[in-house]
Amino acid sequence: MTQAYHTYGDSHYFDNMIRYGQQHITQADIDAVVDVMKSVNLTQGPAIPRFEQAVLEHCGACHAIAVNSATSALHIACLALGLGPGDWLWTTPNTFVASANCALYCGARVDFVDINPRTYNLCSEALERKLLLAEKEGRLPKIVVPVHFSGQPCDMRAIHALAQRFGFKIIEDASHAIGGRYLNEPIGNCRYSNITVFSFHPVKIITTAEGGMAVTNSDELAIQLGLLRSHGITRDPALMTRLMDGSWYYQQVALGFNYRMTDIQAALGASQMTRLEHYVVRRHEIAQRYDRLLAELPLTLPWQHPDGYSAFHLYVIRLQLDKINRTHLQVFEALRARDILVNLHYIPVHTQPYYQQMGFKAGDFPKAERYYTETISIPMHPMLTDEQQNEVIAAIKEAMGL
Ligand SMILES: *Cc1c(COP(=O)(O)O)cnc(C)c1O
Repeated sequence: MTQAYHTYGDSHYFDNMIRYGQQHITQADIDAVVDVMKSVNLTQGPAIPRFEQAVLEHCGACHAIAVNSATSALHIACLALGLGPGDWLWTTPNTFVASANCALYCGARVDFVDINPRTYNLCSEALERKLLLAEKEGRLPKIVVPVHFSGQPCDMRAIHALAQRFGFKIIEDASHAIGGRYLNEPIGNCRYSNITVFSFHPVKIITTAEGGMAVTNSDELAIQLGLLRSHGITRDPALMTRLMDGSWYYQQVALGFNYRMTDIQAALGASQMTRLEHYVVRRHEIAQRYDRLLAELPLTLPWQHPDGYSAFHLYVIRLQLDKINRTHLQVFEALRARDILVNLHYIPVHTQPYYQQMGFKAGDFPKAERYYTETISIPMHPMLTDEQQNEVIAAIKEAMGL
């Protein structure tokens, strides 16, 4: 299986580091990008709808809006759902800051729901308890953002049922999860959400260098997202408030942004999409090999909920610190010293200084905080060879003092 990836790319492409994640670029990707560069449209051309269509065909949603990052997609998703001053958005503390910052961009406030200690995803029981309390206090959230951490889907059926009961909207942050499945259906079909957001940063499952996408089944939301992506400007007479002055005419009907993806990026994305399933299969092979070869160590390995098929963006190990003679910091730094570029996902968002200044404090979300003190993201990407994986495993044993 690794063979296929070596046909195109040398795994020592950059240097001798073994990274926790990295892109895989083929000659077909390069050709697709060069074709756009030789064409008339570097941006706002036909590669954008082609890429959007490829993602829709994969995930089965009705509308896709490609943008320049998942952060932008989260921002316009919040605006399209009407988030504004006085509103609340809730998400998980175990995420990248962008999942929470999008609320602040809209002038809304953020709160968090602690994680499930087995999946590391937002805990649906904790969500229910917090909603009951918020209902009494009259501060129910307008939007909840479940994040499919490491590519493993959240408990979407339960979260969706709570949305019906308490009247909030759902944005799935599927930045880690394109190619994953929930109850045997692709993540991104929006069966249990209003909007799903993907990221195409190079460490994610497929890449456009920088890039993101929002998908939805709502015609209305798709129109809003399309407007917000590009200055709130439309050339569609149906969306205008009066007749066109002439063929040059356009109208600004909302306050949007320039969040457009370029055709160069979209061509790369469309080319990468042809290998999405391949990538996820390979990630599962790597995960299974880690599961087998790390099973005897004092580690908690990623538990997989039977409802989901993870995209395996990350493979996170948790150190059982009471069983080893090393600290979390020592193990982490020992791995980095051996050129194994491990990472840590995530520093709980509420412990960031910017959030502490808003009143959050250590101890607010103890499960996410405990998880943070034990976790390490070890190398996981389709270009990782068995030999490199063996090197990682040997280094982990040595770093743990075993
Ligand atoms: C990467 C990531 C983002 C942000 O993605 P960009 O495309 O870099 O803006 C948001 N949320 C999560 C969970 C991510 O991992």
